[in-house]
This record gives sequence, structure tokens and C-alpha cells, in this order.
Amino acid sequence: MIAIIGGGAAGMFAALCILTQNPCAKVMVIEKMDRVGKKLLATGNGCCNFTNINMREKNFHGSDTKAAWNIIENFPPLNVIRFFESIGIFSVTEDNGRVYPYSYQAQAVLDCLRFKLASLGARIVTGTAIKRIKKEGGHFYLQPDSGNEIKCEKVVIACGGASYKSLGSNGSGFELLKTLGHTITKLSPALTQLKTETEHIKSLEGIKLNAVLRVYGTPECNNIFEGEEELFCEQGDLLFANYGISGPPALAASALLHENEGRCLTARLDFMPEYTEREVTGILHERIKLLKDTVMEDFFTGMLNKRLGLVILKRAGAGKLSQKSSVLEENAVNAEKLAGLIKNFSLKVTGTKGFENSQVTAGGALLSEFNGKTLESKIIKGLYAAGEVLDVYGDCGGYNLHWAFASSYAAALALCAGEQKGK
Ligand SMILES: Cc1cc2nc3c(=O)[nH]c(=O)nc-3n(C[C@H](O)[C@H](O)[C@H](O)COP(=O)(O)OP(=O)(O)OC[C@H]3O[C@@H](n4cnc5c(N)ncnc54)[C@H](O)[C@@H]3O)c2cc1C
Repeated sequence: MIAIIGGGAAGMFAALCILTQNPCAKVMVIEKMDRVGKKLLATGNGCCNFTNINMREKNFHGSDTKAAWNIIENFPPLNVIRFFESIGIFSVTEDNGRVYPYSYQAQAVLDCLRFKLASLGARIVTGTAIKRIKKEGGHFYLQPDSGNEIKCEKVVIACGGASYKSLGSNGSGFELLKTLGHTITKLSPALTQLKTETEHIKSLEGIKLNAVLRVYGTPECNNIFEGEEELFCEQGDLLFANYGISGPPALAASALLHENEGRCLTARLDFMPEYTEREVTGILHERIKLLKDTVMEDFFTGMLNKRLGLVILKRAGAGKLSQKSSVLEENAVNAEKLAGLIKNFSLKVTGTKGFENSQVTAGGALLSEFNGKTLESKIIKGLYAAGEVLDVYGDCGGYNLHWAFASSYAAALALCAGEQKGK
């Protein structure tokens, strides 16, 4: 029997692939939650962005992206789309390459996976967490939190990472693999919101703006310009919150904290990316002339989000906003200073919102300790790993579910070949 620990995206997909190729295989999926696929329901804001047709090696991160990419190349996006089609999921591909079920319902994806698993005869055991695994005399013995030991010939660890405990994965897959001799690389939350200094953005809470987010790293926090290096640059919708910033660029930048421990990180926001700083300065000079008799409070109305305009004036030290805008040319607060803030609104990054709010876990079981084609452990024969438990994670946009599917397909293919040989 093949036991798959974890009934998430990777575990369910592995079971399906094994049973589609070998309907006689005995497969048991063991899930600690009361039902399988809880996280899948939360993906893509409940719409399930299950792959992306624009897939490159650079979309994946970890200790060995080349090895991860080889696995993905053997099961590219089109294969995932076709597989889903074969179980009844008609899909839609958006302009940015993201692929969703046509119904935009994650529940539909989960239902189709569950129906197919049932029709192929997979045994699903829920409400059972595996606490320990031992191997003796060619068999694995899985010890659950309650009930009897489970004996099997092969095991797939598909327990996910340590993100969003409420949806199931709590890092227990790392513990299981560690006790079996595997190395677990440094773990950190990725694809999560950024915490920043909040003094200047308190009044922006709830605002969504299209902007460029750049993140710079410096060796020392008291001099954010000395030795600074641009680490990240992405344009997209940014959402201001009471703790800092959210939205796709902020989520994508969050892993930088993992990669740049000990460095001081500063976020710089560009609110007018289509224009250079010089052009913005020119626009503002003209605007000051045009609106010289308008009170400063209304100076940015029609150009920037009203609340953002006020924050920029305040941060520039414009004084009483009931004064006429003409004072902007007379003051130290002038077009140049305002343009500088519009193009380079800097905020010190203080952290992330942590594992509880992160979509994925960076780090995990060291990929090089698994066969690059089959994902069988090089340490323990018959042990496989798939999905987020491995030290691979992808960008936001369907890459993580794709990794879960492609890695479980690799393991499933090898397990079927093994089963056939064993007969
Ligand atoms: C809010 C949110 C939105 C996301 N949106 C997207 C998206 O749109 N597109 C995308 O590509 N990715 C998205 N992701 C990431 C994606 O969901 C994960 O990368 C993917 O689910 C990983 O699959 P997995 O099977 O490896 O792990 P999981 O889906 O986490 O499944 C692991 C399963 O194992 C079970 N388990 C853990 N330990 C044990 C144990 N000891 N015994 C038994 N069972 C155990 C868990 O309960 C869980 O059900 C999102 C993540 C979150 C949190």
C-alpha cells in the first residue's frame, strides 16, 4: 500500500495520478483535518488560481531552482490544464497567464478532485494526524495521534508547509522528515503582507493604489543610503493597512526579509510611475501656478488620491493646509520636494505578518536529498515528498499549486513504475 500523508493539493493530486495510471494500486490519503483540501478552498480568494501559462524558472525560489524546474518541465501548465479538463474542470486563462476554473469557484475544483478520487477507489482517512514514521524490515509504520498504526510499503509526505495553520499545514511534515534524517532549511513566511513604520501611512488605511514598490537593502539602519542596493521592483495594486502594506507587490517582496536577514530594508513607493521625477516636478510647478488661490488641502485633488495628497503635503512639512497653494512656491516645501515624495515615498520595513498570514513557506526539506526525477528520498528508500514541504516556493499567480501538482506527478509516476516492477 502507498500511504500519502496530507490531503492537500499535492496529496490528492498524487493519489489521483497513481490511481489513474494504475487503477489496481492501493492508495490511502491520511489527512489531519476533518476534510481534505481545506487550503485549496481559500486559494485565489476562493477562485483557485491553479496554474499559470507564463511559467519560468525565475518564478520559483529555493535551494535548487534548476532541479525544481526540471520537475516542472516534465509536467508543464498545459498538462495541468488537460488533467483538470479530464476530471471536469473547464478553465479560463486571464491576460496575465493565471488559470482558474471557468466558474471561478475553488469549491468546484475540490469537488471534482474528491469525486474522481472516490470513483477511483482511493481510501481517504480524515481527522488523523501522523505523529511518527518508522521503517522496519522493508515496511513503514505510521503512528497516528489516535487509532492503530498504519503499515505500508511506500510513503509520500505531502504535509505542506507551516503557513496558515488554521487550514491544516502546521509544519508537522518538516518534523516527520527531520526525524527520518532529512535536512530542513531555514523556514520563513513568504507571500505575506509587509509591516512597515506606520507614522506616515496611518490615514491611508484601506486605500488601494497602483504604484511601483521598490525595496532597498542597506547594511546599517541609521544610514539608509550608505551601500544601498535595490533588491526588488514591481508595479501593481498596493493596499494600505494599519500595519503596513499589502497587495501583490508587497506579498512578492515579503520573502526578502528571509533572504536579507541582518540588513535594513526600506520600501520606496512611486505613485506616478509613468513620469520621471523631473516631469512630476514640472507638472507640479504648473499646478501651483494654476491652483495658486486654492487652499493647499485641495491642491492634489484631481491628481492624487485625496488622502494620499494630504499625507504628502504633511510629510513635506507644508504647515497649515488652509493656506493658499501659492505658498508652495515660496516655501522650502516646493514642487521639487513634493515630487520627491510622490516618486520616492519611503517607509522602513519592520517585518512581515508571519506564518499565520503567509500563503507559502519559504524553506523546507532540502531538495537535493531527493532524487531529482522521482522525488524519492536518497536517505530512505520508498519515502517520497511532494508540494510545499520541499524547499521550493513560487511567486504569487498559480505557481505554488502548480509546484504541488508537478512534484506530486513526479512522485506518482515513480511510484507506479515501482508498483509495476514489484508485480
Ligand atoms: C490564503 C491562500 C491563498 C493561496 N492562493 C493560491 C493560489 O491562488 N494559487 C497558488 O498557486 N497557490 C496559492 N496558495 C498556496 C497553495 O495553496 C499551497 O502552496 C499549496 O496548497 C501547497 O499544497 P500542499 O499539498 O503541499 O500543502 P497543503 O495544501 O497545505 O496541504 C497539506 C495537507 O496536509 C495535512 N497535514 C499536515 N500535516 C499532517 C500530518 N502530520 N498528518 C496528516 N495530515 C497532515 C494538512 O492538514 C493539509 O491538508 C495559497 C495559499 C493560501 C494560504
